Amino acid sequence: MQAGQGLNALLSAIDSLPDAVLVLDSNDRVSHYNAALVTLYGDAARFLAIGKTFADLISELAVSGQRYRALPESANALRDGKRRRVAVALPDDNNDISGTTQIVRSLALHALAPCDYEELTAEGRWLHVATRQVPQGGHIIIHHDITIWKARELQLEHTVLHDPETGLPNRTLFMDRLAQELRRCARDRDRKFGVVLIDVDRFRIINQDLGPEKASAVLAAVARRLERVGRPSDTVAHLEGDAFGCLIDGVLDERDAYDFARRVNQALGEPIRIDTQDIEIKISITIGIAIGNRLASSGGDLVRDASIALSRAKDDPGTKVAIFDSVMQNTTLTRYRLDTRLRQAIRRKELRLAYQPIVEIETFRVAGFEGLARWGREGVDAVTPTIFVEVAEQSDLIVPLGRLALESAARELTTWIEHNPDIFVTVNISPRQFDEHDLVKDLKNVIEDFSLPRESLHLEITESTVVENPEKVAEALAELKRLGVRICIDDFGTGYSSLHLLQAMPYDVLKIDRSFISTLDSSPRSQIIVETITEMAHRIGMRVVAEGIERHDQLAMIRRAGCDFAQGCLFAPALEAEEAARVAISGRLEVG
Ligand code: C2E
Ligand code: CA
Ligand code: CA
Repeated sequence: MQAGQGLNALLSAIDSLPDAVLVLDSNDRVSHYNAALVTLYGDAARFLAIGKTFADLISELAVSGQRYRALPESANALRDGKRRRVAVALPDDNNDISGTTQIVRSLALHALAPCDYEELTAEGRWLHVATRQVPQGGHIIIHHDITIWKARELQLEHTVLHDPETGLPNRTLFMDRLAQELRRCARDRDRKFGVVLIDVDRFRIINQDLGPEKASAVLAAVARRLERVGRPSDTVAHLEGDAFGCLIDGVLDERDAYDFARRVNQALGEPIRIDTQDIEIKISITIGIAIGNRLASSGGDLVRDASIALSRAKDDPGTKVAIFDSVMQNTTLTRYRLDTRLRQAIRRKELRLAYQPIVEIETFRVAGFEGLARWGREGVDAVTPTIFVEVAEQSDLIVPLGRLALESAARELTTWIEHNPDIFVTVNISPRQFDEHDLVKDLKNVIEDFSLPRESLHLEITESTVVENPEKVAEALAELKRLGVRICIDDFGTGYSSLHLLQAMPYDVLKIDRSFISTLDSSPRSQIIVETITEMAHRIGMRVVAEGIERHDQLAMIRRAGCDFAQGCLFAPALEAEEAARVAISGRLEVG
């Protein structure tokens, strides 16, 4: 009696719960359900009956399509009473295991073992469903409405996986979809898809000229156009800054990929009008493509391949599209091996600096040296600097390499300045050394450790370093300037040559690129350019170095143009430290 009363009290408590509850007896037959469940089931409540097996209930609901979205195979299998042997057909994407599938699987495999899942009802409500075994036998299934929470969660997920600037999927979601594509390829041997990277050319300039807000509007416009090129099944993502990525279906060969690239180019070829403003902007883009299939090892590798193709497309001014191919594959392998060897060489300090004299034109005295990295035994260099510096720049290796260069220069300088206090060494600095890594701190340490006069170490940076990262570089340069370190702008005339930046940055020295010097005799334009650059630099208080001087006629011309210093094989190539020391101490070169 008491037990019965207790049970009644319990059942009426269950009836008053806001959660929908279904109680099954030890044979998994419905033994009780509450009012909230009737409300939840709506029309489908007619299928609820005390004594009905849970398997029957689910299959009726599924077949009627009333509560569960149809799951015919599993439901039929359940109805046939084969629930322990049911093979559950999982949806195409493994990550979309719906609650229904889970419960069917749980029924089939574990005879209603405890489980928790989330379920979307046909009416669009989200439920958290918990199934628990009752110790005396049977099960209790509790449905808790989480629609509000789910909405917030989905919103948050959307925020986390999309880029607010363009509204497109971000890199995380892009990589996720890429992984999904690869899983599809693993199941379908013939499946192929394209990973397309799209880079807006000179976006930094657009950003500089228009300001961040309008530049952002340009990116959003690019996003909308890209969306229109892609099919609904394609993914168009904003990866970062001016880089977009597309995953495209049904790319069977290079022709399809080129065709897609052509359509992208066409869509972005029309000028972009920024709304409410009368500004029309014409952009150009570069496209790198990798084709993915079941052999691709990872999404990361495919993105890397596509970005190798992209930089190849950039190098070649003619084509703005490249597809990753076997030649690039081999180059990548070589580079990869080089990267490993270089890492080792830096650790073992097998890199050294060679020193190329910089000569004062007026007096022919050696004013200083440019430190140039060398790898390998003296005289038999293992790999040329252009290649290993590029490899180092593409990885984090440029940071230790740069540190090694600064240290080597400082070490030599300590003895040289004892004899020649005005001598300097200029060290090349790459863009990467400005991000994250504390170049300023490294330099302070080196100057202190070797007790160097601050004017004896100069730094050379290229114009593109500044353009790539103006704020960070400006900040670092200002601090270096306060330290008393001199700064030289290298390869001047080959990059973006923003005169505005030239005026805004605290440079002391300008180095005219050797491409102008080598064409001095053949091109009157080069002569005018050298003269103009020199005059302009002088007027804003900079001194000028002409690099790559190989012949006397070139020397005569740069002297006429008013350059202050010359550097090149006419005077001396880069010298090993021992020989450079002799030159540094005497301040003289025997020039032929
Ligand atoms: P760069 O800064 O433009 O250096 C000048 C390059 O011109 C050097 O090539 C030098 O050997 C070469 N050169 C000198 N005189 C002449 C000449 O009369 N005619 C011609 N045709 N070339 C001449 P190198 O040593 O092969 O270095 C290549 C590039 O590697 C450098 O170009 C620089 O960008 C980079 N690099 C070298 N060492 C370092 C370093 O320690 N750190 C960084 N970040 N980059 C470095
Ligand atoms: Ca240089
Ligand atoms: Ca240079």
